[in-house]
Amino acid sequence: MSTKYIVVLGSLMSGLGKGVVTASMLKMLDFYDYKALPVKFDGYLNFDCGTMNPYQHGEVFVLDDRSEVDMDFGIYERFLNKSLTGDLSLTGGKLFGSVIAKERAGGYLGETVQIIPHLTNEIISRVEKIAESKKPDVLIIETGGTVGDIENSYFIEAMRQLSLKHDVVFINLTYLPTLDVVGEQKTKPAQIGFRLLLEDGIRPNFIICRSSSKLLESTKEKLALFANISKDRIIDDKDQETLYNIPLHFMDMGFDRLLIKDLGLRPHARNLSKVNSWKSNVKRTISPSGRIKVGIVGKYTNLRDSYASVKEALIHAGARTDTRIDLTWIESSGYERPDNDFSIVDDMDGIVVTGGFGTRGTEGMINIIRRSREKGIPCLGICLGMQLMAVEYARSMAGLHDANSSEFNPKSKHKIIVMLDSQRHITEKGGTMRLGAQDCMLPDSNSIAYHSYKSRVVSERHRHRYEFNNAYRDILKKRGLKLTGMTRDRKLVEFVEWGDGFGIGTQSHPELKSRFEAPAPLFVSLVEAAIAHFKSRAT
Ligand code: GLN
Repeated sequence: MSTKYIVVLGSLMSGLGKGVVTASMLKMLDFYDYKALPVKFDGYLNFDCGTMNPYQHGEVFVLDDRSEVDMDFGIYERFLNKSLTGDLSLTGGKLFGSVIAKERAGGYLGETVQIIPHLTNEIISRVEKIAESKKPDVLIIETGGTVGDIENSYFIEAMRQLSLKHDVVFINLTYLPTLDVVGEQKTKPAQIGFRLLLEDGIRPNFIICRSSSKLLESTKEKLALFANISKDRIIDDKDQETLYNIPLHFMDMGFDRLLIKDLGLRPHARNLSKVNSWKSNVKRTISPSGRIKVGIVGKYTNLRDSYASVKEALIHAGARTDTRIDLTWIESSGYERPDNDFSIVDDMDGIVVTGGFGTRGTEGMINIIRRSREKGIPCLGICLGMQLMAVEYARSMAGLHDANSSEFNPKSKHKIIVMLDSQRHITEKGGTMRLGAQDCMLPDSNSIAYHSYKSRVVSERHRHRYEFNNAYRDILKKRGLKLTGMTRDRKLVEFVEWGDGFGIGTQSHPELKSRFEAPAPLFVSLVEAAIAHFKSRAT
């Protein structure tokens, strides 16, 4: 059977959770053992999001195949428990780039190259190529931006044209505000969004309504009347205790059956063991028995989306260990001076020091790492976090007072972290870091790393330009720092550990591979250590 398509379009505003809705539909279809894959379109003219600041874009997500992609890929992977590929990410930059390259190569000789049909054809052929090569039962295409934006208008037009050739189900995600004064769900904005879609020649099969409270029957009736679609096609997407409940919530309303019917898929039975194990994980997330506090230390904490995968990895580890994790966001730039008040750290059961680029906030991270080491608070350092754990150790335990990373102080006498050899001659910035899945060896059976993964070889995703300086391996080892993970050729240090207490740093980003049903081993270890710390405090 040929691939069927679902196109998700958001109206009124961004931030309604198109990624979560897309991921929830992927999961719903997976519960029936259909092969469903996402495609994400982003309208910006960057080739990818790798050159954007987290404050512009949120987290840059990295796939095994080195692609730097939109953070929605993180949501898809966390729900689907599958590793995806970079060809599923379409951006304005990639699409315009290939049309222009084709024109220069003489691919359109004699023609005036235009948005319609050349760019729209490019989009359709890319989507068809994905369907041909990966042969999914369903491709769910999430359209970034909002209906009515200039940035995605050509893409929406391409989707309209796609529906002339293939079976396409359109989903309109919209917002229903509730006015405090009258306590009534207002449908007018949703009606206007719907009308905009009609102007684009698209009549959605379903309207999914984001709202803070349950969709009232009267609201459904009103919307159904104005949109001229049946009431059961207006789908409630009210706030949930956990995002991972949304596929189940959608199924409770019968959305799965209608969607499968509209797609014209060959009927499959629900895979009950998949559904039940998801349900029990959701239950453990919502009402766990234990409770601990974890601090996320970062330099972009004002935008939580910068650390979406770290936050989710903690939620996954919490579900695995039956523990609620109360998160505290700690902006490291507020802790740059040794005489700052560090009691916030003392109050935590565990600390995660996150990745990042540039000097701002790094001294604060070092101070917080020192505090958690001295107070015996379990600490996990990720990428930059690992690099600064090594720097802190060199300063405090090896007496190398001006130790630093050459990224932050190129004049430092003791550059514990230096640029990767492979990076020294690279001048271009896009897609040139050490990226994607890299193997790492864990030779030491007594290490936290080995205890966490229980495997000699692990593969984690990376995104960095700097590395541990091998000239300092012996000096720091003598002072007690354990180097517990190396690349296969042993040239790069991938894991460092304090040796005393629970302190581990990794050059990789383990959060990028954490899934609801397969939590990242290092996060589980951190949470277990934090639970032990909490209990030791209580006694
Ligand atoms: N800035 C550091 C580097 O490039 C760390 C990167 C990161 O945390 N992702 O190596």
